[in-house]
Amino acid sequence: MIQPGARNSEFLDLDDDSLYHLGLKKTPELLNQLREIFGDVKYVCMGGSPDRAMTFGNKAAEELGISTPEGGVQTIGKTERCNMCQVGPILSISHGMGMPSLSIFLHEVTKLLEYAGCTDVKFIRIGTSGGLGVKGGTVVVTEDAINAKLEPTHTKTMLGQDYTYPTQLDRQLARDLLDARGVEKAVMGNTMGTDDFYEGQGRRDGALKPPYTREDRMAFLHKAHDEAGVRNIEMESTEFAAFCNRAGIPAAIVCAALLNRLEGDQVKATPVELAQYSDNAQTVVINYIRQQLEQQQKVVEA
Ligand code: URA
Repeated sequence: MIQPGARNSEFLDLDDDSLYHLGLKKTPELLNQLREIFGDVKYVCMGGSPDRAMTFGNKAAEELGISTPEGGVQTIGKTERCNMCQVGPILSISHGMGMPSLSIFLHEVTKLLEYAGCTDVKFIRIGTSGGLGVKGGTVVVTEDAINAKLEPTHTKTMLGQDYTYPTQLDRQLARDLLDARGVEKAVMGNTMGTDDFYEGQGRRDGALKPPYTREDRMAFLHKAHDEAGVRNIEMESTEFAAFCNRAGIPAAIVCAALLNRLEGDQVKATPVELAQYSDNAQTVVINYIRQQLEQQQKVVEA
């Protein structure tokens, strides 16, 4: 699954490997079990919230006609840090808020699927975001992930040194997702990944006095929209894109906008509206997976 030049041979050489945050482990005795359970996974769908990971699993099962145990899909592994469930070829997992948390789950899920011998897996992040020039409820399919300086790169510091990686996503996958949108209002645009929700996204409603004015904030948001093609802002896209790019895993990001950041900072949508917005993004991804499964079925029947 990981492109050979990028794969860390040291983890494959481990006899025992604790996938600590997932609450799973690989041992020589458990390897066959991991292959049986996870070997057929083709889509890893990741989102921030543990509840949404389960909602997505149940919705995917219902809409794709995949049977579940009574009471709905069950979690796999420990639930202290995330919820993970499997529905046919889909592994749905939450990754928490922000890049450090996401990075941990990207490493552990990727190792899990490598141990399970998975091939041709796509990673899709299904998230929530602040829209830029788009209304609450709009689904944004990411063209490029760009950092908080509006550059298409992600920098990680390791052992005191900075390493910068490109953040391109799979363009074809993004187009296919957009084409599968059905009735959902969806647009393609760049996504700005930031280090936090408040000052990192230019909000003026955090606890501390920000070092920028209202005018600075609006000037930057307009520049991001007009010059850098940003249509939404969240806290994970650059880490996600850089990881998948490095690994050679086809990846896409599909986020619901919860508000239009050109109109304000506060998320004022009602719980019902928020659930609907999140459902919009999930629907786009399920429509895409349905189309893919139907195409594969046609090939098998031909
Ligand atoms: N998530 C974010 O990161 N920002 C928003 O404005 C809304 C959701």
